[in-house]
Amino acid sequence: MTATIIDGRAVAERLRKHVSERTAELARRGTIPGLAVVLVGDDAASQVYVASKTKQAAAVGIQHFDFRLPTTTTTEALIELVRDLNARRDVHGILVQLPLPKHVDADTVLAAIDPAKDVDGFHAVNAGKLVLGQETTVPCTPLGCLILIREARSNLAGLRALVIGRSNIVGKPMAHLLLQHDCTVTIAHSRTRDLPAICGEADIVVAAIGRPRAIAGEWLKHGATVIDVGINRVDAGGGKTKLVGDVDFETAAARAGAITPVPGGVGPMTIACLLVNTLNAAVRAAGSTGVATLNALRPEEG
Ligand code: NDP
Repeated sequence: MTATIIDGRAVAERLRKHVSERTAELARRGTIPGLAVVLVGDDAASQVYVASKTKQAAAVGIQHFDFRLPTTTTTEALIELVRDLNARRDVHGILVQLPLPKHVDADTVLAAIDPAKDVDGFHAVNAGKLVLGQETTVPCTPLGCLILIREARSNLAGLRALVIGRSNIVGKPMAHLLLQHDCTVTIAHSRTRDLPAICGEADIVVAAIGRPRAIAGEWLKHGATVIDVGINRVDAGGGKTKLVGDVDFETAAARAGAITPVPGGVGPMTIACLLVNTLNAAVRAAGSTGVATLNALRPEEG
């Protein structure tokens, strides 16, 4: 069998169109969604991510306010900036690009963000609400993964789902989202024993470990839905590099029912979901304008 390729670029494009339409509607009623993007230091990858986020925000009509700060910025200075942004009425979402320089206490900075403006969904209040099954802002990457899983399978109830990786930004929220969708969820990590056997029982595999091609196609159950979150730069020969996922794509595609490519799978969904979260924060802040929040899982509704 050859797997269906889940086209994250196309799904993200569809989602951006919905965000753009609803943003225009909200703007007509007097509220332009605003996203503050805080970048500390000169990490090359972070600069690329931030440029992509602000460009896409602008393209759907979301205003962005950029704060580029030197590597020497202190935790206290960042908290002061976050507090200013919390108070601004034109800022509905605050994104502090990670990783922060080592001397900065990232947890304290993230905790200072008003949970209502936490469009990354990393604040303890929002993470807690997700665990409790309450309505909240869900972290962008797992939300994007869930949308892609539903492209391949409309009903997830009763399916065995394996999330490989237990980070706070991907693995843990992903597992809770799948649980909310009635999957039987297993979380694997670096201390897990016999990962191939656990993989072999999973209808859905989400790999988020940051190890190039670590998940072999032979481990997968035939027909499994495979979501590859990993972004790893590897040597491509001739002095060139290329991006690969955490899953060995060639062997996995021969066995899976559906699979996301890298690049072009989860990556584009992460930013599209950030736009959804920003729009929804603005809708909530604006109150009763008649514009509803956008359900990223069912964007045609509402
Ligand atoms: P972290 O490094 O924070 O977490 C990695 C997790 O993988 C840990 O829980 C670790 O276990 C586990 N792990 C590591 N090696 C193995 C292994 N051999 N077998 C099983 N589990 C293992 O990474 P992130 O969650 O932040 O990111 C994961 C990947 O996803 C990275 O490649 C990252 O670049 C990518 N990513 C992509 C995004 C996108 O938009 N597409 C967004 C965010 C991340 P333990 O806890 O025991 O250490």
